[in-house]
Amino acid sequence: MKKLENKVALVTGGSRGIGAAIVRRLAAEGAHVAFTYARSVEKANALVAEITGAGGRVIAIGADSANTGEIINAVNETVAEFGRLDVLVNNAAIFLGKDFYEHTEEEYDQIMTVNVKAVYIAAREAVKHLKAGGRIITIGSNMGDNAIGQQMTLYTMSKSSLQGFTRGLARDLGPKGISVTLVQPGPTDTDMNPADSGHADYLRSRMALPQYAAAADVAGVVSFLASDEAGHITGSWVTIDGGFNA
Ligand code: NDP
Repeated sequence: MKKLENKVALVTGGSRGIGAAIVRRLAAEGAHVAFTYARSVEKANALVAEITGAGGRVIAIGADSANTGEIINAVNETVAEFGRLDVLVNNAAIFLGKDFYEHTEEEYDQIMTVNVKAVYIAAREAVKHLKAGGRIITIGSNMGDNAIGQQMTLYTMSKSSLQGFTRGLARDLGPKGISVTLVQPGPTDTDMNPADSGHADYLRSRMALPQYAAAADVAGVVSFLASDEAGHITGSWVTIDGGFNA
């Protein structure tokens, strides 16, 4: 029997990057997976075709994490399709690096809505369906512990807040047997942070293992946290940053 057989997972922002790697990995471990996307319709459809072709069960749901109603709908659609929900992975986020003085209030709202509020809304809706053994796993950033440089204040702020969310919700959901964890990647080769970008060498220079992670490296840890083996881990996080924060 596969590690996540009979589990149902919802991954936000699964059309590309780390989210897509998580969708692939959870499906490969036997889970039935729903994932959301906002703009990348073609990539979402291609991922569904790939996983379905390999014998997995997956659906893609268009749902903008900036829209509360669409998040609620995504949770409900997942349960309608697969009959239950065991694992929520809050992955969708945006990065907007900019000089602090140039940020607009609108940008603040944009970052906080997608990176923080959407995590709260999805968790709130998921809790209506999760049973003992359920998991809420959120993708933060190693920047939650380390403001690595300039022009990243709002993003860093959004990711640090996920630590408080993880601690608090672990306490709230502990009595129900639901665990809440945070995964904090460092530089990971995706559209958000390509390994060949202008600042990539600088990032590598700050790592103990001076190479970018692959999205699959993050997905492997998410799959472990979703599994029964990780049942006693809650209210804490795993940082996967090649020793950036060491
Ligand atoms: P990408 O930008 O490569 O992919 C982002 C994914 O999130 C896409 O699938 C995108 O979907 C989705 N998404 C973005 N905005 C929304 C929205 N409003 N509603 C729904 N989905 C949305 O990012 P990564 O894969 O690199 O990042 C994934 C997670 O990992 C994020 O939480 C990020 O903060 C974190 N992280 C990444 C690091 C890195 O170095 N890459 C380092 C540390 C943390 P679509 O294209 O359909 O809009």
